[in-house]
Amino acid sequence: MSLRFYNTLTRQVDEFVPRDAGKVAMYSCGPTVYDRAHIGNFRAFLFVDLLRRYLKYRGYQVFSVMNLTDIDDKTIRGAQKEGVSLREFTDRFIQIFFDEWDVLRIQKADLHPRATDHIPEMVNLVQTLTERGHAYEADRSYYYKVETFPTYGQFARLDMSGMRLGERVASDEYEKESARDFALWKGWGTDDGDVFWDTALGKGRPGWHLECSAMSLKYLGKDFDIHTGGVDLIFPHHQNEIAQTEGVTDKRLARYWLHNEHLLVEGAKMSKSLGNFYTLEDLTSQGWKPREIRYALLSAHYRQKLNFTQAGLEAARGGLERIDACVRNLKFAEGAGAQDLPAMLAGHEAEFVAAMDDDLNYPNALAVLFNLIRDVNTLCAEQKIGPTEAEVARGTLRKLDSVFGFLDVDQAGEGESDEEIELLIQARNEARKAKDWAAADRIRQELADRNVIIEDRAGGTVWHRK
Ligand code: AMP
Ligand code: ZN
Repeated sequence: MSLRFYNTLTRQVDEFVPRDAGKVAMYSCGPTVYDRAHIGNFRAFLFVDLLRRYLKYRGYQVFSVMNLTDIDDKTIRGAQKEGVSLREFTDRFIQIFFDEWDVLRIQKADLHPRATDHIPEMVNLVQTLTERGHAYEADRSYYYKVETFPTYGQFARLDMSGMRLGERVASDEYEKESARDFALWKGWGTDDGDVFWDTALGKGRPGWHLECSAMSLKYLGKDFDIHTGGVDLIFPHHQNEIAQTEGVTDKRLARYWLHNEHLLVEGAKMSKSLGNFYTLEDLTSQGWKPREIRYALLSAHYRQKLNFTQAGLEAARGGLERIDACVRNLKFAEGAGAQDLPAMLAGHEAEFVAAMDDDLNYPNALAVLFNLIRDVNTLCAEQKIGPTEAEVARGTLRKLDSVFGFLDVDQAGEGESDEEIELLIQARNEARKAKDWAAADRIRQELADRNVIIEDRAGGTVWHRK
């Protein structure tokens, strides 16, 4: 079987055939940089990260673009409130955004273009759309004339019967699934203060939907491979992108459209407007480690809603402890050598590929990882793994970690946290019970290197930091 994705365009699972063999050109709708992202947003970006990591693991040469929306009502209002320029205001949130990406081990796209750096490209699109009869001017703004794009509504599966065409909407985000002439360019009004561009279209600023058409066309061309976003973007944003780009090129915008489901809190979408959100900082200040948060946010299939709970974070902690314990077992393995190790690892890796090829079935892929870990632990317990085999097993884990991004194959067990120290002590006690004095001494030294002193007392081992 080959790689396949559920494609919103066709509403079915399609085999993935890229435009150019071996290469993937992908575009992802990025953040609006008016505030710190919440972890619901991070679920969307972790999905992109997972997709990109897996495509690379599968050997594709990936070129990915994710825009930064640095102009819209929210960014303008934010800058005005603080009395700073739009650029200064958005620069700050872009910095925070990428810092948090690093913390969550989200790999950057190849390009993160900003909307405000692409005003000429957007003006150009509006001019072409106007020449082709798809756009018109009204009251110094430009609108897309929806009725000129016969397939409008098809992508979002809108029922177009009974629609009153010709109504206009100026706002970027309109909830109701109705076809309206939407703003491409907004003529300057006093609300926008000093935020405007003087262009061939007059003084104003772009509508939100236009930037993604302009930037994807510029950097990825026509009919590129994958476009991603949250399900909330299917309508109107992605429908409008399609009308804009295809209205100019007469070619398909993208071949595969992948949409991630939402992160929920008590059944409702986590969002700024509902006030039911957590930031990364909220969680790390409660003591959750970034890799636990990464694990928890990835834990469901991307097309399933994921309820964000304390239990989910605890499960993530438990899962990572099992993984770390396996990595530690490998580190201290002193066994004789298992003949069947490479075949066992290859078998599990093939299952991992089969799961991920199936529309990124991450829950199944994670289950495969735990099967692998269980089998490695068994071989360690049977004293069949020595340093050479351990390195072979670590090789497979490192490869899988290029997708998971939380395995810490080369760092686990270094005793940064109390739990990890406890686990090392437990491993040492087990070694002593098995009369493996060399291993026990090595663990003691390992702890000493971390400035942890241990004492064996009648009631058990106690430890303290130097
Ligand atoms: P925004 O910064 O609001 O433009 O959103 C950035 C991305 O986060 C978009 O792709 C949204 O679909 C996505 N998003 C927003 N809220 C959630 C949520 N609760 N769960 C998953 N994705 C979300
Ligand atoms: Zn977009």
